[in-house]
Parts: sequence; C-alpha cells; structure tokens
Amino acid sequence: MTDSFDLLVIGAGPAGYVAAIRAAQLGFRTAVADEHAAAGGVCLRVGCIPSKALLESSQRLVAARTELRVHGGLAGEIGLDLPAMMKRKDRVVTTLTRGVSSLLRKNKVEHIQGRARLGDLDGELRRVVIAGEQGEHEVQARNVIVATGSRPATLPGIELDGDRIGTSTEALAYDAVPERLVVIGAGYIGLELGAVWNRLGSNVIVLEYLDRILPGADTEIAAAAEKIFRRQGLDIRLGSRVLGAKVKDGKDETGCVVEVDGADPIDCDRVLVAVGRTPISDGLGLEEAGAALDERGFIRVDERFATSAPGVFAIGDVIGGPQLAHKAEEEGMACVEGIAGGAVHIDYDAIPGIVYTEPEVASVGRTEEQLQEAGTPYRKGAFPFRAIGRARATGSLEGFVKILAHAETDAVLGVHILGSHAGDLIAEAVAAISFGASAEDLFLTSHAHPTLSEAVKEAALAVHGRAIHM
Ligand code: NAD
Repeated sequence: MTDSFDLLVIGAGPAGYVAAIRAAQLGFRTAVADEHAAAGGVCLRVGCIPSKALLESSQRLVAARTELRVHGGLAGEIGLDLPAMMKRKDRVVTTLTRGVSSLLRKNKVEHIQGRARLGDLDGELRRVVIAGEQGEHEVQARNVIVATGSRPATLPGIELDGDRIGTSTEALAYDAVPERLVVIGAGYIGLELGAVWNRLGSNVIVLEYLDRILPGADTEIAAAAEKIFRRQGLDIRLGSRVLGAKVKDGKDETGCVVEVDGADPIDCDRVLVAVGRTPISDGLGLEEAGAALDERGFIRVDERFATSAPGVFAIGDVIGGPQLAHKAEEEGMACVEGIAGGAVHIDYDAIPGIVYTEPEVASVGRTEEQLQEAGTPYRKGAFPFRAIGRARATGSLEGFVKILAHAETDAVLGVHILGSHAGDLIAEAVAAISFGASAEDLFLTSHAHPTLSEAVKEAALAVHGRAIHM
C-alpha cells in the first residue's frame, strides 16, 4: 500500500504534532509517523507531564506534612501510597496522550505507527518507509518534517541497566522509594526528579561536575536556588566529576556504586543519570538523503528549518537549541507556515525556561553574566517575595524577581524569577521582551493586588530606584 501526502511529520511529540495540526488547518493532506502508539512524544509520555504530576503530588505531601499545621490544619500522620501516586501520574499521561490523538483525528491527520526512514525522491515526492508491527509500509510525501526529538545522554563508564542505573524514564516509575539515590547532573532533570524523591523520603545526593547548579541560568538566581534546595535536604556536591557507575555484582550485594574523581566511591540503591540529552538523528536515512548533521548529531537547518535534503525539514530537539517543548512547538508552527509560503520567525530571545522545583526557577532573555560579557550597559531591579502581601498570606516567601533593563533605552533584556509560581509569572516578562517593552512599561501596567505579580512590578520600579514596598 502506498499513500501520498502533502506533508509527513516524523515524530508525534510537541514539535511534530503541532506541526501536523497546523498543516492540516492550512489544508495539507498530512500524516504523522511515530513508533509509539501513544501520541505526545517524550514530553507527554516520559518527560514534562509525568514529572510535573509527581512534582505536584510530592509537594502536596510535603505541604500536608509540614505546612498544614501553620495554617490551622490538624492532621494525623500522613503516609505515602506510592502506587496510588504513580497511578495518578499514569492517568494524567493517558488522558493527555489520548487528547493529542483525538486532536490529530479531529484535524484528519493520519497517525501511522512505526519507525520511519527516508528513501529516495520520486519526482517531487520523497519516499518514506515506515516499519511497524504489521510490516513495512511505504508512503510518499511532498514535504517531510523530521521531529524525532532527543534521548537521554550518558557518560563513559556508566552502564545503564534500565533499572537501578537509569535515566529520567526509570526515575518517573521507581516502584519503591530508594533509600539512597545518586543523581548525576544538577540541571533541569536532576533537580526536578531529585526534588521528587527527596520529598518522598530518599537521601538524594546530586553530583554536579561544574562549580554551580543550573548551568546557563543567571548565577545569582542559581546560587539562591541552590541554598534553598540544600535546606530542603538535597546533598548537592559541586565539582564532582563522575567516572563511572555500576550495579554491584558481588554475592549478597544489591546496590550500585558511583565512582567520583578524587572522592570516595558512593554506595546507593539507584542512580539517575541526568547529564543532558542527545538528538535522535540516527537510523532515519538522513545522511543518505543528503541532510547534513553537525558534529554532535544535530540536524543542520536554515532559517526556514530546511535541511540540505530537498523537501526535508527538521524542528525541535533534533536541531539543537533549548531542548524545551514550547520551543519545539513554536518551530512546528513556524516551519509549516514557511512550507505554505509564509514568513518564518521565532524570537529565540523570548523563549522562557522553567525548572519546576519549589520554589520554581523561571527566566527569559539575557542573564546578568551575558550582559556583562557583551559589555551591554544595564540597570538591575530586584524585589523579594517576602515583601509581597500575597506571599505572606500564602506562606511562600522564598525567592525574588530580578529584572535587567538596558541602561540607556530601558528595554527589558532579561527577567529571572525564583519563587512559587515563577513559571506562571514569567509569562508577563516573555510578553514584555517579545513586544520590546521597557521596565517603565512594566511598572506602568496595573498589577492586581494582592497577587505575586506585584513583585514583577516592584522589580521594574526598582530598576528606576523607586520600589514602593522596600
Ligand atoms: P541539563 O543540561 O539541564 O543538565 C545536565 C547537568 O549535568 C549539567 O549541570 C552538567 O554540568 C552536568 N554534567 C554533565 N556531565 C557531568 C558529569 N560527568 N558529572 C556530573 N555532572 C555532569 O540536562 P538534563 O537535566 O539531563 O535535561 C536534559 C534537557 O531536558 C535539558 O536541556 C532541558 O532543556 C530539558 N528539560 C527541561 C525541563 C523543563 O523545561 N522544566 C525539565 C526536564 C528536562
């Protein structure tokens, strides 16, 4: 059987399914191929969504145990039903993956299950072979978008066994709380999943190669976050270069051992390797089709997301840049608009990044170090949540908002927030940077009282040395 499409998208993650839906809206006969039956990609199946479900559940447990009494609540001992927590997480995932499948159906996007591999050109059409459970199936498409995403990276010397020594995929589904968990990497995944298991009772050791957590984040914000995470119980060991990790194979030995350069080996029950993600660009026939990859395996694309293979485009994690679902979605829409003959534009300076710990770490635009390096003159305004009425009322006092604005034009260049709901508060800053707003624009905008967003207004006032409540 051969089917012919205007567009075939390979990968049904946030980049791919959004591209497919936009293409269908524009009238393209569209199909999306994915080796998994469930749509939504890593983000929905084993990434953003299940991790947020566990972060929410574990934080509620901590709040019930430690904060409820202050609010006048009296409860007995609150235990942990881990299977129930995991079941809820699985339900959240199933609901959302089914939701994406139904969106694809509603838009008449054909969802083909199987591994796709680019073939040669047949006139203007590209042959693609999709190997599924029922065998191979050839389709032809005028355009192909590769949106295959990324997979967890590992380190030399680490033997991933898919169980005790694993990645985020395993850490989202441990069947018991590990007594001792070693997390390698203090980035997004290490801190989020480290927080989950710390809250559920594990002794969590986070080994980070660098002398700081969250590389790339504003240094002042990262340092303040690190202090809070340590207070919460994360044993963060900076400057720790991991040389290897393996499951102990001796008789009567059950755990794992992690080797660290210049330090004693660490015994633990489980190891979570969270040292970044690598592109899934192998096995797709890309190079045979003429699509160039860079030295790290990312697909090279031009400003319209076109690869060097005719009719083949690529978006999302597989092309590099911030490995974030919302960046991938933007690229999905922009790429399809371009294929349809429209303009392609994404403001990469206005892509926010959020770490969903408690407090959250959210940022958009330039960090203070980047401005210093570039020699950009800037003014800085910061405002702590503890001086905000709503934060007092909720009891979430930690953290602050920091705004960096151009010293001459007052244009907002960077906003960094450490605090509860920082991930929601950052939306205003994203809009400000997208619209080229100034710090003055921000503080002349009415911010409802009492809300946490008043800290953004106060930080903007502080840029001009005129915060009211400090
Ligand atoms: P990351 O790049 O965020 O962090 C990896 C960390 O591992 C870095 O701090 C790095 O210095 C450290 N590291 C590297 N080699 C090491 C070694 N040998 N020993 C010790 N530490 C070492 O990567 P991640 O946490 O694995 O996440 C992968 C990607 O997934 C990220 O790029 C992120 O964009 C995305 N993600 C995003 C979210 C979110 O948006 N909230 C959540 C999870 C993942």
